[in-house]
Amino acid sequence: MGLFSKKECDVCKKKMVLMEGYKCADGTICNDCKKKMSPLFTDYKNTPIEKIKEHLVYREANKSRVKAFVAAETFGEYPKVMVDRKHNWFIVTKATKLSDENPDVFDLSDIQNVLVEIEENKRELHFTNKKGKTCSYKPARYEFAYQFKVNIKRIIHSSK
Ligand SMILES: [Zn+2]
Repeated sequence: MGLFSKKECDVCKKKMVLMEGYKCADGTICNDCKKKMSPLFTDYKNTPIEKIKEHLVYREANKSRVKAFVAAETFGEYPKVMVDRKHNWFIVTKATKLSDENPDVFDLSDIQNVLVEIEENKRELHFTNKKGKTCSYKPARYEFAYQFKVNIKRIIHSSK
């Protein structure tokens, strides 16, 4: 195979342009196929083509779930967690337009555990006096910032 011969995507058979493509366990996938994969699917390098094909079939099915998704509640902003009470689904996404991102739609029943970590950051506030000196308030004043990390653990029911 010459250096400039065009390679084709092992998933969709599209001819790839030079420098295009992502190496996976036993082949190469084109940029279009990579884009269709879930943002949560990060370990494509160790995944065989067959598994990526299966994943893309699931991603197509996910599109119709995204279309049917009705957010009854939305928590947070970036990312946000959206809950569909009718279907008992949830989404975790940073996207503003769901149809563009096609975020994975999970079943609420998949949730096994939710861990919340809270990090507190305390900072003392100061003021500058008439002589230009930085002084502490008496009593001291503080500013608090809280960062919440929510870890949603889910189990996947699979027939395989
Ligand atoms: Zn492709």
